[in-house]
Amino acid sequence: MFKLDGGAMFGVVPKSIWQKTNPADANNLCSWAMRCLLIEDGDRLILIDNGMGNKQDEKFFGHYYRYGDDTLEKSLAAKGFSKDDITDVFLTHLHFDHCGGSIVREGDKLRPAFKNAFYWSNKKHWDWAVNPNEREKASFLKENILPIQESGQLRFVEEADGVELHNGIKIRFAYGHTDAMMLPQIKYQDTTIVYMADLLPSVGHIPLPYVMAYDMFPLKTLTEKQRFLEEATVNNYILYLEHDPENECCTLKSTEKGPRVERVFSLAARD
Ligand SMILES: [Zn+2]
Repeated sequence: MFKLDGGAMFGVVPKSIWQKTNPADANNLCSWAMRCLLIEDGDRLILIDNGMGNKQDEKFFGHYYRYGDDTLEKSLAAKGFSKDDITDVFLTHLHFDHCGGSIVREGDKLRPAFKNAFYWSNKKHWDWAVNPNEREKASFLKENILPIQESGQLRFVEEADGVELHNGIKIRFAYGHTDAMMLPQIKYQDTTIVYMADLLPSVGHIPLPYVMAYDMFPLKTLTEKQRFLEEATVNNYILYLEHDPENECCTLKSTEKGPRVERVFSLAARD
């Protein structure tokens, strides 16, 4: 868990409205999760995103108020795995709260946290991240990104909607939050789960104008979100929410006002 400015998270929506569902603390910060997803299939163990990691200094972490007892190591151990078991680390995009756990510091060296894994990005987003614009620069930390390439473990997926990462895992592309962000769409039992990354951070972001101020191209997000939410409603997708502080997943229903939340639940409870 961590905290981010409520205003930045809800864009043009006024605090008097968003604070009803996402109360802010005295510093105007709201709580958010960095919820990863682990997919086990045959001999592949695929980790989607990996939080902000722990190699930054106190000053950096001082801005983000990490709290709670959850760690990636503990969550993996609870399923009988360690970081060395991961075969694939899939990075939706290279903002620090999604890929910071990719690299660890050892003395004055930076090395991959997942030594037996390929790390998946795409060429377009990679180039965008290593030559960042001034507005997005604070989110792309060189120490999270460059050591992945130096390790030789970096791989690119083809930038094409629907390209397969693995059997039953297709990739969707979105361009509003940052250039060429990737959303894994997973066939699981009788259903489809979509890992929403920053196209839909939380249940609170479902109404269309709720677009983060962090987004580079908000009108693009608006179109992408509208199209996706309609598709998800019709097809009854499970939306897996990376940043929602309380809700792991939701489904949608159609209303006069547009798609709205139908049900919230955890994947484990569904099983
Ligand atoms: Zn994020």
